[in-house]
Amino acid sequence: MQLSTALLPTAVMIFYVMHFRKFLQIRPLARAKVLEHMSEGILIADERNRIIDSNPAARSLALGAQGKRFGASLTDLFADHPELKAACTSGEQRRLEAKIGEKWFDVRLIPLRVRDERTGTLLIFADITGRKLAEGELIRRATTDGLTGLSNRLHFFEKLHEAAESCRSSGEPLSLLVIDLDHFKSINDRYGHTTGDRLLCCFSGLLRDAAGSGHTSGRIGGEEFAVFCPGLNGEAAYRLAETIRLRAAGEPIVLENGETIAYTVSIGIAELHGPDMTVESLYAAADNGLYVSKVSGRNRTTLAGRSA
Ligand code: GH3
Ligand code: MG
Ligand code: MG
Repeated sequence: MQLSTALLPTAVMIFYVMHFRKFLQIRPLARAKVLEHMSEGILIADERNRIIDSNPAARSLALGAQGKRFGASLTDLFADHPELKAACTSGEQRRLEAKIGEKWFDVRLIPLRVRDERTGTLLIFADITGRKLAEGELIRRATTDGLTGLSNRLHFFEKLHEAAESCRSSGEPLSLLVIDLDHFKSINDRYGHTTGDRLLCCFSGLLRDAAGSGHTSGRIGGEEFAVFCPGLNGEAAYRLAETIRLRAAGEPIVLENGETIAYTVSIGIAELHGPDMTVESLYAAADNGLYVSKVSGRNRTTLAGRSA
């Protein structure tokens, strides 16, 4: 009994030493394994933003050849990503999303300090490409028309509101075209709905092409389209509308059997005037112009406020 009491401190000591050894050996080993196997890329940079360590995930992620080289500079690696570059040099803890090559990353920057002195940065890269693609697809579906790929009504009017606001403050003109296919119901009745859909798609392509960049086209109803043109006054928009109308009349669609379907469009235009004109009244004026084009025989363009 006395012997076992005497051995107790030794036993505790042996147990402690064994445990401490395990602690010293296993913990760093486990930590190294975590770095080795984690799916997030890890880069460690020194105080001059030079890469001094990385894990296999960082080396296999699309961080470019620079990201795989020890001693490579983070500022060179992120030369095309001003936000990321600024975050690296700020020395502050930051989290941001960045597209590097074809992939999107959620990037966390954690400054490493020893007694308040910055000694480096830990960067953690999580690949969020799948989530970003899914978000992009959701946005595309919510903003575009499924048949023609043009902006849908909601998105078109949101963009028009933004453009009208911006033109009002810059003093730039803005015009709106409202376009309706003539006698489209009889085209559907004669050739079928599928051919009608095809015509809608062909006209959308023509519209996108004729309207050009800087002008936004949308499908705002069944066979009703609209284009808003920042920078164009009513007269310039009238010339653009005539180009669209004449091209539609001159470019019949061709079916698989070689048959051609000629069609025409009617257009109404209005220009944004004064600070009190709302987008709703701009649209109403253009729609009224469209009505005038329809009742005066179709296949024509009417600029609201201009006598024919
Ligand atoms: P108007 O010259 O007065 O504009 O005559 P319209 O026949 O073009 O106009 P109406 O409003 O009488 O008919 C529009 C037709 O457009 C009726 C509708 O079935 C058709 N339409 C609406 N959306 C679609 C669509 O997505 N695909 C097809 N194929 N037809 C559509
Ligand atoms: Mg119509
Ligand atoms: Mg219509």
